[in-house]
Amino acid sequence: MRITVLAGGIGGARFTRGLLHHLRASAGTAATEVTVVGNTGDDIRVFGLQVCPDLDSLMYTLGGGISEERGWGREDETFVVKEELAAYGVQPTWFGLGDRDTATHLVRTQMLAAGYPLSAVTAALCARWEPGVELLPMTDERVETHVVVDGDEPGTHRALHFQEWWIRHRAALPAREFVLVGVDDARPGPGVLEAIRDADVVLLPPSNPVVSIGTILQVPGVREAVASTAAPVVGVSPIVGGAPVRGMADACLAAIGVATTAEAVARHYGARRPVVGEPDSGLLDGWLVHDGADADAVAPLEALGIAARAVPLLMTDLEATAAMAAAALDLASVVRR
Ligand code: GDP
Ligand code: CA
Repeated sequence: MRITVLAGGIGGARFTRGLLHHLRASAGTAATEVTVVGNTGDDIRVFGLQVCPDLDSLMYTLGGGISEERGWGREDETFVVKEELAAYGVQPTWFGLGDRDTATHLVRTQMLAAGYPLSAVTAALCARWEPGVELLPMTDERVETHVVVDGDEPGTHRALHFQEWWIRHRAALPAREFVLVGVDDARPGPGVLEAIRDADVVLLPPSNPVVSIGTILQVPGVREAVASTAAPVVGVSPIVGGAPVRGMADACLAAIGVATTAEAVARHYGARRPVVGEPDSGLLDGWLVHDGADADAVAPLEALGIAARAVPLLMTDLEATAAMAAAALDLASVVRR
């Protein structure tokens, strides 16, 4: 069996870790291959280093090197380089550059400068971390999510890098638009379209629907691949009880006019096999919402043609996360064509 996951950072990584735990625990699934297509729209060049936050969150989480406390970066991290850079007055001071993490960025930047594509660099980094999945950048081309916000003068706008908006401003500047710079010329990374086309199940983990999964879907050809794969496509809501479980996805959803509810996010992705009269451009066969708070979303989504289930969706520990992944696979087996 081949499972393909389109993932951002923390939400995608934690869910995939639960998925692997479930697969290892359940008999007869030793032959399952998991491919993760990672968002690279968050990538940023700082101090000459090419940083790929979501690929690193995936690699460290699945490889056992993540800081569980912070959710990003390495465990047992120190920040001496960051402090020394700040002492020189060098910008940006808001970017969390850990010392251990810096080694990853140095290897990546050096390999990119030598001409290796990001996919090859990622494979080389993963040779150390052994994440247990094939980790594919969504594209080898450099693309960057920028955020359009209001300028100082009324009626004007300015754009800043997603990381500056997210980390420095804590997503507090109202976003007018997200622009994925470079995407028009980007091609899906090697293996990305095949992984979606040839999958037995495609999973959308509880990653940010706008700046993680939404970004991956913008790479030319990817949305079409998901819409047309023979595999069932099942998503897991990152929104629980009208709020993101972690982070500021509500600020991203507001910018694209989508309400911060499990139901609105599913409607935004859309039904793949819509009922008569609905537009047919959707992506989802199935959608999991949080049991209790969001159970009311099940009936309206089913009416739209999305098979919906209410199950516990809090990734409090590995077992709870594995149960979420099991529920997603179970729903996939129900909607399999
Ligand atoms: P990022 O790139 O590090 O921001 O991570 P992702 O885009 O992969 O995931 C971010 C999303 O994960 C946020 O919108 C959170 O709401 C969601 N999330 C985090 N923890 C949980 C959880 O325990 N349950 C659910 N359902 N969603 C979660
Ligand atoms: Ca991210």
